[in-house]
Amino acid sequence: QTAQISNQTRRWQEMDARHHVHPFSDQAALAKKGARVITHAEGVYLYDSEGHKIIDGMAGLWCVNVGYGRSELAEAGYKALKELPYYNTFFQTTNPYTAELGERLAEVTPDGLDRFFFANSGSEANDSMVKIIRYYWSLQGKPEKKVFISRKQAYHGVTMTAASLSGISAMHPQAGLPLPNHAHIDFPYWYGMGGDMDPNEFGVHIAMKLEEKILEIGAENVAAFVAEPVQGAGGLIIPPDSYWPVIQEICHKYDILLHADEVICGFGRTGNWFGSHTYGIVPDTMAMAKGMTSGYQPLSAVALGPRVGDALHNSGEEWSHGFTYSGHPVASAVALANLDVLQKDKLVEKAGGETGEHFLKHLHALADHPIVGETRGVGLLGAIELVKDKKTRERFEGDTGGLCRDHCFENDLIMRAIGNTMVLSPPLSITKAELDELFTLARKALDATA
Ligand code: PLP
Repeated sequence: QTAQISNQTRRWQEMDARHHVHPFSDQAALAKKGARVITHAEGVYLYDSEGHKIIDGMAGLWCVNVGYGRSELAEAGYKALKELPYYNTFFQTTNPYTAELGERLAEVTPDGLDRFFFANSGSEANDSMVKIIRYYWSLQGKPEKKVFISRKQAYHGVTMTAASLSGISAMHPQAGLPLPNHAHIDFPYWYGMGGDMDPNEFGVHIAMKLEEKILEIGAENVAAFVAEPVQGAGGLIIPPDSYWPVIQEICHKYDILLHADEVICGFGRTGNWFGSHTYGIVPDTMAMAKGMTSGYQPLSAVALGPRVGDALHNSGEEWSHGFTYSGHPVASAVALANLDVLQKDKLVEKAGGETGEHFLKHLHALADHPIVGETRGVGLLGAIELVKDKKTRERFEGDTGGLCRDHCFENDLIMRAIGNTMVLSPPLSITKAELDELFTLARKALDATA
């Protein structure tokens, strides 16, 4: 990419290197290499400033569920921008878009989760959830219930609280985290930790870690258990079927609230509207973002079930929390158009039906590759574990995942590496022919990596 690039690209790269602090990047190394400049996108394809057409196997950052270039979303945003570009929802006001969005969301969320607090990002949604749940327990006369139990390798965002809920250890030391009142338990990673146990036996074994941790801390001190239905950024960990029912039972037994972080799993990603539907979870609260607008506008929400929602609603005092952009009219208008497209094009049904089946068939076909130890997937989420030895599951020592990701990038496919696990999460709008193309490129990258 650095060899023969246009003056225009070089100019953008230079400006970027001088002034743009990139998220999750080694700043100096990226500045030296030059960031790839993405200029436009259509369908499942990105285009860079050098004219390459790149197939996006990650739907951006697991978010562009309806695909790029949907004019319905652009036009809805434009109309709202002209009519009401901004007004706050603090001073006893609302707007038509946000009012309708709550009603439309309540139709697709699990039963009972029908009140929504709006924010701008997944991190803010999870941060807000912690404040809501602390307030809830305080209203119940149990303010000491303030410990949040989440999982190792979980990703819940980057604000101080969301990063404390997160269990990816690299996220903690630079900011002196986690904050007090956060605890992390093992996660249901059967391929890496299951040993001789069969998956369902392992699922129960890992779920019981929640009970152990509750007993260690004391149920009277625990506010909630927080988890993604399928762990995404922590390596795409798909739980065995036995896992979630046991977790749900433990939460009931000890009167611990259950928060489902649906930031990745929501809006069709696992083949149903929410991961909670796929795994039969009945959460007390839920975070959503990403697929809520397919990334076309920043928007997130915390959904509240009756227990927490009614308590907040009837607290009889002002609730002291909210963002300038909570209930933003333009983001809400785009979210409405996004729901229209998901429903009109039956993208959720297709992710759980023909598109998902075609995706999973291709994904599991890669299991025969000499460096692939396991493939796992649900809906339009897929992981490919790279190993040195398929039989013993011995891992590669170096950054083989990074190497594979770079081979993909050079061949105009975006596939993400999480350690030595390759991850796919394409737009739900992807066609079968585009999936065929994606997996041809993926196999080529695996061959080049082996
Ligand atoms: N929760 C989950 C499960 C996520 O995957 C992410 C982001 O990837 C977040 C929360 C944080 O969302 P944001 O980056 O919008 O703050």
